[in-house]
Amino acid sequence: MATESYEEAIAKLTNLLSDKADLGGIAAAKIKQITAELEGAALEATDSKPLDPVERIKTGFLQFKKQNFEKNPALYGELAKTQKPKFMVFACSDSRVCPSHILNFQPGEAFMVRNIANMVPPYDKNKYSGAGAAIEYAVLHLKVENILVIGHSCCGGIKGLMNIPDDGTTASDFIEQWVQICSPAKAKIKTDHSELSFTEQCTNCEKEAVNVSLGNLLTYPFVKDAVGKKTLALKGAHYDFVKGTFQLWDLESKVSLFLLE
Ligand SMILES: [Zn+2]
Repeated sequence: MATESYEEAIAKLTNLLSDKADLGGIAAAKIKQITAELEGAALEATDSKPLDPVERIKTGFLQFKKQNFEKNPALYGELAKTQKPKFMVFACSDSRVCPSHILNFQPGEAFMVRNIANMVPPYDKNKYSGAGAAIEYAVLHLKVENILVIGHSCCGGIKGLMNIPDDGTTASDFIEQWVQICSPAKAKIKTDHSELSFTEQCTNCEKEAVNVSLGNLLTYPFVKDAVGKKTLALKGAHYDFVKGTFQLWDLESKVSLFLLE
């Protein structure tokens, strides 16, 4: 039996079922069970197979080229000349929250900055020139019409911020210093929501940190100017990848524009 080939086994089963059709129901149930077991085994095999990074990158690009680039010559022809994104987006570096995936942004639609906990630092030429350069380029040169800051559920950066002891002791080279950009959010949550569990406080802080970032955006003179002229709108959002929800709100009103569930 063990040496029997897959083809022989299938042939035997087919013959048996054609002779004894009443066994069909039992056979279907057994086959379903075997299929489930094999699916599990296949999944395990994929997981245990070491990833070939070069192969993964190659396959990924060829798939994009075939299914996207070559199918949209008009779009990519335009993008070859220039970019005119309407959005600048700040999102977390977290691998689960890519705005191109969760909001279906196509190439050319969103000018993006991704960093730990999707934070916008305040205007500071020496400390935060990377963020400043991106904002300056987006607002003054690309003339984006919206800046969207997207927080998210289970954010490790926000958890890190909430975990910094009150005496300010830090252990990391960069992370804790970076996330303290949103210390005002932490302070607000600790004061306003002391009754909540740590996890619930983190969720609230994920949203409040977005508000701190929106406030920080206004410390850039060219952002403040464009917002004043109403050529630029600032929006906050929170994506919950546990519940599969997306909430959007305005800078001024902080009132939710929508909650998609
Ligand atoms: Zn995050």
